[in-house]
Amino acid sequence: MGDRTPTAPYTHRMPFHPVLFTAQNASERNINMSAKSYNAFETAQKQFDNVADILDLDQGTRDLLRWPMREYHFNIPVRMDDGTTRVFRGFRVQHNDARGPSKGGIRFHPAETADTVRALSMWMTWKCAVVDIPLGGGKGGVICDPHNLSMREQENLCRGWIRQVAKNVGPVQDVPAPDVMTSAQHMLWMMDEFEALHGGRYPGVITGKPVGMGGSRGRTEATGYGLIFTVREALKQLGIKPQSTTASFDGFGNVAQYACELYTQMGGTVVCVTCWDQADNKPYAFIKKDGLDIAALMKITDRFGGIDKGKARDLGIEVTEAAQWLTQDVDILLPCALENQLREDNIGGISKGVKIVAEGANGPTTLAADQYLKDNNVFNIPDFLANAGGVTCSYFEQVQSNMNYFWEKDEVLGKLDLKMTSAFVAVSELAKKQGLYMRDAAYVIAINRVAEACRLRGWV
Ligand code: GLU
Repeated sequence: MGDRTPTAPYTHRMPFHPVLFTAQNASERNINMSAKSYNAFETAQKQFDNVADILDLDQGTRDLLRWPMREYHFNIPVRMDDGTTRVFRGFRVQHNDARGPSKGGIRFHPAETADTVRALSMWMTWKCAVVDIPLGGGKGGVICDPHNLSMREQENLCRGWIRQVAKNVGPVQDVPAPDVMTSAQHMLWMMDEFEALHGGRYPGVITGKPVGMGGSRGRTEATGYGLIFTVREALKQLGIKPQSTTASFDGFGNVAQYACELYTQMGGTVVCVTCWDQADNKPYAFIKKDGLDIAALMKITDRFGGIDKGKARDLGIEVTEAAQWLTQDVDILLPCALENQLREDNIGGISKGVKIVAEGANGPTTLAADQYLKDNNVFNIPDFLANAGGVTCSYFEQVQSNMNYFWEKDEVLGKLDLKMTSAFVAVSELAKKQGLYMRDAAYVIAINRVAEACRLRGWV
């Protein structure tokens, strides 16, 4: 159990891995003062406090919900290929399980911190509640950079992670899933280790598994597709046809790739994506004003979302400063990488033409940047609503695993669309009715549901 003192913001933790960065945290490298002082957990708590005031929540409920219920911080010794042992720092945080077992991904990231995992676990609670699935919120992480680990070392790390929390996670306690730089293969190694320790078959211990090994069809696409379902609904509400719109994405990992795919299928034009370039140790934006060919781009992208710059130039794509993703003259901005990307110091640079900010990443917008969006009437689709497609499909994976009957992809995506659309409509109707900003309306629905579950259980 960790203490309750927030640790330093993750930029202060860099001595662990001073030079290792990843595709997903590209723009974070444009370090500046506000980025340095950013703390995701403080942001998550302030967002909560703001809505707790709107709801006039009692003190007990506030105290319960503004902190995780349980935390596990541990060392993971890993035997490396050269025979040495390296010790990695791991986390699992269970924010709240009043509505069901804790649920949320595990991130592999060189700049991971306890506070970031705390924030992400809290956002998972609201995410599961806003789409009304019977799950709580949790998150895990390891301070590591899988770019620099062989597959065998990654397998050892996954098995080591599970060994440390084998008694604290499980189908009825806490169910992990993939997140930044973790994949279906990582999930399967973790499941296998859990099953070896517990002596049985427990497909419900983890989601995001490979199809055919307890995974759900459509899970890989789910977060990106879910994001675009909400964008489609927002456009409908604003009376704008998708075919007439342009979009700029931060990132080109799992979320952005499938979001780009569905958005272009809807007729939209993607003018920019970004990625971290491992060789140059800096981020880049990939721009094509008349529209990027997403299928072609995916073919020259590695499994971490890194795009081959030379091959991109051969396709007529301009390769330039990553920060340019934010200043593109587009209708829709989609931050789909890491937290802290829309900040006080850069939000003023967004084009006057931007009508929607759809948050594929968790926590991409700081409080100050959020205020700017509010003041400028930009339609915001908040992270824990916009990117809830992943966990919604994880829930479908649990249901299918329990029945041992797996649905066709169309059925999965149809059900996903229904869940995402009805959550979006509920939030936007409340926002209109009560004159609330979209993020606040989503929080009102989610916090009310979780607070009610805590009350019904007699916890508060
Ligand atoms: N990691 C994803 C998220 O942040 C999915 C979590 C899950 O499927 O449990 O929503």
